[in-house]
Amino acid sequence: EVRPLVAGNWKMNGTRGSLDQIKAISEGVRGGLSSKVDALICPPATLLYVATALCTDSPLSIGAQDCHQNASGAHTGDISAEMIADCFGTHVIVGHSERRTDHDEDDALVRAKAQAAHAADLTAIICIGETEEQRRNGETLDVLKRQLAGSIPDGANAARTVIAYEPVWAIGTGLTPTVADVEEAHAFMRRELSERFGEQGSTMRILYGGSVKPSNAKELMAIPNVDGALIGGASLKAEDFLAIYRVY
Ligand code: 13P
Repeated sequence: EVRPLVAGNWKMNGTRGSLDQIKAISEGVRGGLSSKVDALICPPATLLYVATALCTDSPLSIGAQDCHQNASGAHTGDISAEMIADCFGTHVIVGHSERRTDHDEDDALVRAKAQAAHAADLTAIICIGETEEQRRNGETLDVLKRQLAGSIPDGANAARTVIAYEPVWAIGTGLTPTVADVEEAHAFMRRELSERFGEQGSTMRILYGGSVKPSNAKELMAIPNVDGALIGGASLKAEDFLAIYRVY
């Protein structure tokens, strides 16, 4: 059985005042459910260290939203996986569609970042997903196949690798694919992962992301091969995040 992960991506949102939400989430995940499902919040890097300090005795994990592919060096403004680990972060999102678009990140770079994450003993949450145009053209599964092949490092294992399927057109739009479409995409990704990584691939978590909210989480999380959620907007409020967490 794959243990689900409910993860929040705060994106470029959150200041010191938002630490109350981290505290509330941390307290909410203490409530006995923590053995069935893992919970993670990825605040902006400015809050990473103080967030992990708030959660030292908590089952809530704290992660980052991106890392550089190198361990250190002359890369002004970037943050390495080692620095995230040094702040007691345990996870890092790589290849989010907003990074692929805003910073021209391609599959090869995303793979290098995932490798850097693994080298620092972090869990890499590798994001993939088709654009609206690609879906319209019937290219969704081809895109997923290519991104899975290109973005995941060889030798990736289920303990340190999570896939997040986020259709680009579903992010922040309130739109979600149909249950049948999510089921088809996740079954396809599962087959691809199992073929390439064997047992590790059949237990690697595949999250769904894109307009997950309390009102649709139950239906989405019940789909076969959906092993949790990557939540943007609805993860900013403890109440909403916890409502999603509690569908498990
Ligand atoms: P929303 O939940 O706001 O649609 O964002 C999804 C996302 O991009 C999470 O990484």
